[in-house]
Amino acid sequence: LLQMVRPLEALGAAARDLSRSLGFMQPLLDLLREPVDEQLPPPAHVKEARACTARAPSIRFERLTFGYDRSQPVIHALDLDIAAGTTTAIVGPSGSGKSSLIRLLLRLYSPQHGRILIDGRPIATQSIDELRSRIGLVPQDTTLLHASIATNIALGLPDATTAQIEQAARGAQLHDLIASMPDRYETLIGERGLKLSGGERQRLAIARALIRQPKILLLDEPTSMLDSSTEAEVLDTLREASPECTTILVAHRLASVAHADEIIVLDQGRIRERGRHRELLARDGMYCRLWRQQNHGAS
Ligand code: ADP
Ligand code: MG
Repeated sequence: LLQMVRPLEALGAAARDLSRSLGFMQPLLDLLREPVDEQLPPPAHVKEARACTARAPSIRFERLTFGYDRSQPVIHALDLDIAAGTTTAIVGPSGSGKSSLIRLLLRLYSPQHGRILIDGRPIATQSIDELRSRIGLVPQDTTLLHASIATNIALGLPDATTAQIEQAARGAQLHDLIASMPDRYETLIGERGLKLSGGERQRLAIARALIRQPKILLLDEPTSMLDSSTEAEVLDTLREASPECTTILVAHRLASVAHADEIIVLDQGRIRERGRHRELLARDGMYCRLWRQQNHGAS
């Protein structure tokens, strides 16, 4: 009898494992069942033509719901379409979910519902490496290594050539400064090295992002530590350096988003308003209130 029971037990365990992994597979299976529509990837010859021109992609957030704790969503059924090659600014009070959107796009977390598509392809079906290789991230604060400037820039692309490092530094308008230093790209920076100003640090972060030649640029309050004139300069640099990117700029200071193609006002994980700077000012809503607070003191 024992000889018969053991295999059955093993079978039971295997079945439990299988159902667990099928549970995990369910979102993938759901995707496979979806009706054919224009969101399917283009045929191979179209894809090839695109790869040649390497145009910036579109990004779509679709009915996205997410919470760090499942029972407390911080993003609520959010829909957002970002056209290829445009700059979308996300503003809103602290805690409204701006950074969470960026983290979801980088797949640092997965949504509980909905999905994110890049050029119509769900990011959940791409490899994380492939996804992240297309994205340049400029964070709020930049970690500097006690190492050469070249090493610090190349952090964005470990096997970068000297030419690539210099090109990225030029894009970030750091090259002239570096060239004026005695040790040029070998100058040591970081805690025990040359101190960089806030603006220089952010330019370095931009160079680090640019060296990957990303088609998507994510900026999470990249200039919030800078004074407003340095901030304006850094943002000008970015605009020039990344004309072929689809850019998402999370910003605290509204003056820095006035140029964006579209501004999204996020509030408690929902889009409260969207439009261009002038349109939003004319609406006299939340954006307008934030604008008045920042420009004329609390009102
Ligand atoms: P924002 O960038 O707009 O300030 P976040 O996206 O960082 O907002 O945060 C949205 C909400 O999620 C906030 O309530 C915040 O407290 C919470 N939150 C952020 N990060 C975490 C985390 N790692 N674990 C749990 N809750 C988090
Ligand atoms: Mg944030």
